[in-house]
Amino acid sequence: MNSMIPEQYTAALQQLDRDNYLHPFTDSKALHAKGTRVITKAKGVYIYDSEGNRILDAMAGLWCVNIGYGHDELADVAAEQMRQLAYYNSFFGTANVPAIELAAKVKSLAPDNIGHIFFTGSGSEANDTNLRMVRHYWAQKGQPEKRTIIARNNGYHGSTVAGMSLGGMEFMHKQGGIIDGIEHIMQPHWYKESLPGETEAEFGLRAAKALEDKILALGADQVGAFIGEPIQGAGGVIVPPATYWPEIQRICRQYDILLILDEVITGFGRTGNWFAAQTFNIEADMIPFAKGLSSGYLPIGGVAISQRVAEVVIGGGEFAHGYTYSGHPVAAAVAKANIEIIEREGLVAKVAVETGPYLQSKLLALGDHPLVGQVRGMAMVGALELVQDKATRTPFAKDIEIAAKVRDCAVASGLMVRAVGDSLIMSPPLCITKEEIDELISLLSQALDKVQAEVQ
Ligand SMILES: *Cc1c(COP(=O)(O)O)cnc(C)c1O
Repeated sequence: MNSMIPEQYTAALQQLDRDNYLHPFTDSKALHAKGTRVITKAKGVYIYDSEGNRILDAMAGLWCVNIGYGHDELADVAAEQMRQLAYYNSFFGTANVPAIELAAKVKSLAPDNIGHIFFTGSGSEANDTNLRMVRHYWAQKGQPEKRTIIARNNGYHGSTVAGMSLGGMEFMHKQGGIIDGIEHIMQPHWYKESLPGETEAEFGLRAAKALEDKILALGADQVGAFIGEPIQGAGGVIVPPATYWPEIQRICRQYDILLILDEVITGFGRTGNWFAAQTFNIEADMIPFAKGLSSGYLPIGGVAISQRVAEVVIGGGEFAHGYTYSGHPVAAAVAKANIEIIEREGLVAKVAVETGPYLQSKLLALGDHPLVGQVRGMAMVGALELVQDKATRTPFAKDIEIAAKVRDCAVASGLMVRAVGDSLIMSPPLCITKEEIDELISLLSQALDKVQAEVQ
């Protein structure tokens, strides 16, 4: 097929795709009508499709390609590890060198209270691990009834049954319902959910108090944990007010509730620290991570577990939980090499002091655009909330699909961003340069202008 001209090649692949490949999170019928875009290669912050289009990937794949594409070094590490030891399990008293070294490396970068690292194949699996570990922990402590986990509306914690149930995405819950023992509270989304005249600080405290109210309603003796993303990602890049996390921490401590901080997006540099727990100064009991751990070069995730939880799990006999690919040697070796590249290139500091502030200032300037109601973001993650009327925060009619319109326009001109509701969101590779940020902002601004002219 490679000898065909690009259009024929693409059409042939699209037909094969239609006939055989069921895509994740996709309206298949609509996709089949339109035809899939086939991504064939990538380098740095750019992806290329089968028709030769070059697209600046401002989503870093799916929030994961932190070091950027095309690091040959990782291919060499994977090949060498496959030749040495392609696979072995960690179940029955064995381990492998990369998994041992990666656990030590992740722990050394994690907040000081972290004691041990558990590996999974993905972020969703990490949250399945959390659900099981929370219940196992409290059972070991003699309080098995502390099994309910409180989560948030519009949170995202993955797509397995546990991940989807912990998440607060109504459109996912509607397809099959959620498992028992999970309760949801309001999200800390000031722009959408504040009362008239309510400051961000006041709103942050009110959103946190929803946790206290829920704990009191259920009884603290029934509640095992609270889970939240430091910054909601898939929900639309929602950065909570500064008052939110300190109050959540206080409430979890007061009622003896474990705090799970879902860092699957924020882990490994995105907020300008290795973990957002450090950025927000939160002490978490469990930190699920994945995405940036390997920059997406191979699938691997895990959970960083606090000393107090790890002690109980370690002392509690066999914890009957794990995955065939927990601590997979090739994935672990690639993840460790990925972290070494982040260190060598100083990407975390670069995002904190140079490119992160630069991106945020450029995004903030887009806030003057007539379509942009609110700019949200931190370091290397950002969002524009699009509205019809800025003064009253009135959204566009749903059927206009305003954010999808701008996204389609951006993609057509060579910029990959994502639309979530009425938000345009982005999470560029941490290696993005100031010049590439200029290109991103210029393409985004042109797409906004074009759609603005269309809808006026
Ligand atoms: C992506 C994501 C997950 C799920 O990770 P998968 O690797 O897709 O299973 C969980 N939590 C958050 C915050 C995520 O963004």
